[in-house]
Amino acid sequence: MHSEHEKQPLPISKKALITLFDYLDGEANSCDCTLTKTTQFLQAKGHPVGQVVSWLEAHGGYCDCEVMLNLMCRFDDILDRD
Ligand SMILES: [Zn+2]
Repeated sequence: MHSEHEKQPLPISKKALITLFDYLDGEANSCDCTLTKTTQFLQAKGHPVGQVVSWLEAHGGYCDCEVMLNLMCRFDDILDRD
């Protein structure tokens, strides 16, 4: 289910999300087609994992490398309401 034109509120701060991208940038080259590294990172930082994951999935991030591919480059577009 893609709902790209729905602007879901970002469940964590923009800064926290950028920190996630930075982390994945170093880690996701060994992506196993799950959100394992993303969820581990979120847990370690004490973020609401379920909410962030459903937000990422709503924007096409279904695994660690897709989070990078589909969200990182379109970040400004996705968050244009800020
Ligand atoms: Zn992947």
